[in-house]
Amino acid sequence: MEIYILIGAVIIALGAIGFAVYEHIKTRKLMNSLSDMIDSATEGNFEETTFDESMYSLLESRLHEYLASSSLSASKVKEEKEKINTLISDISHQTKTPIANLLLYSELLSEEDLSDSSKEKVSAIKTQSEKLKFLIDSLVKMSRLENGLMTFVPEVSSVEELLESITDSLSARAEAKGITISYEPADLSIKCDPKWTYEAVFNIADNAVKYTNSGGVKMSAMEYELFVRIDIEDTGMGISEEDSAKVFSRFYRSREVSSEEGVGIGLCLAREIITGEGGYIRLESSPGKGSRFSVYIPKG
Ligand code: ADP
Repeated sequence: MEIYILIGAVIIALGAIGFAVYEHIKTRKLMNSLSDMIDSATEGNFEETTFDESMYSLLESRLHEYLASSSLSASKVKEEKEKINTLISDISHQTKTPIANLLLYSELLSEEDLSDSSKEKVSAIKTQSEKLKFLIDSLVKMSRLENGLMTFVPEVSSVEELLESITDSLSARAEAKGITISYEPADLSIKCDPKWTYEAVFNIADNAVKYTNSGGVKMSAMEYELFVRIDIEDTGMGISEEDSAKVFSRFYRSREVSSEEGVGIGLCLAREIITGEGGYIRLESSPGKGSRFSVYIPKG
């Protein structure tokens, strides 16, 4: 009798072990299948046909559905981005020659023996053509930045060299306006794309010179734990609190600056570039006294 009980117990134990092994293999298979799906979705070659629907548990088919729809929307986004990129390249390419010709012919015309009134008109054509060129170039850059089509190539670079080259580029204009531009030497380095960062900080310093009629512009830098902060301070017209929130928007210009040339895209570009590089810009200003733009850039 005891022997039967023992045999029965052994059979039950073997059955339980067999069931546990079967469940383990099944779970392993499920895990491998889920992992394969995620791998192929991550590599961007997930296809519904690669996986056999019939063997899926509810969890598998839910994950399968999710991955199928997200890879579809990812490929749609990629397709749209490619279309935008082609359109931007076309606009930029197709407008280059006519604008270059406008500039060339207005230059040639200005060398001819013209009446004063004609000279004025030719000069207006030249100014407007330059403005158009600047506008198209800026919009192309802006659109590429906004659509993530621009790649930043970060490298460690010197803050002092950046401030020095901006000062050199703007000193003649500052001098012509009777204002000063200077920077405080700073032995600091930043990790960013030097070409793009130059463009962003230059735009801010260029504005500082443009919107300051007495006193001057001073640049300095200080170090924080994660960032280097570059300050561009001016003693110009300042920006009202209401305008401070708007000046980074595309094409926004405050009413007070209508007498100055500009299209309202410099600050917007500067912010796109700096945020694209993992930094940010802060603005403090007192109308009538001046402004301080602080650009935070990841430390080198
Ligand atoms: P733009 O200078 O071509 O008008 P920006 O995008 O560079 O365009 O600047 C947007 C607006 O912000 C300017 O039109 C001006 O009203 C304001 N602004 C920018 N920088 C300064 C500054 N340093 N001082 C006073 N106003 C400024």
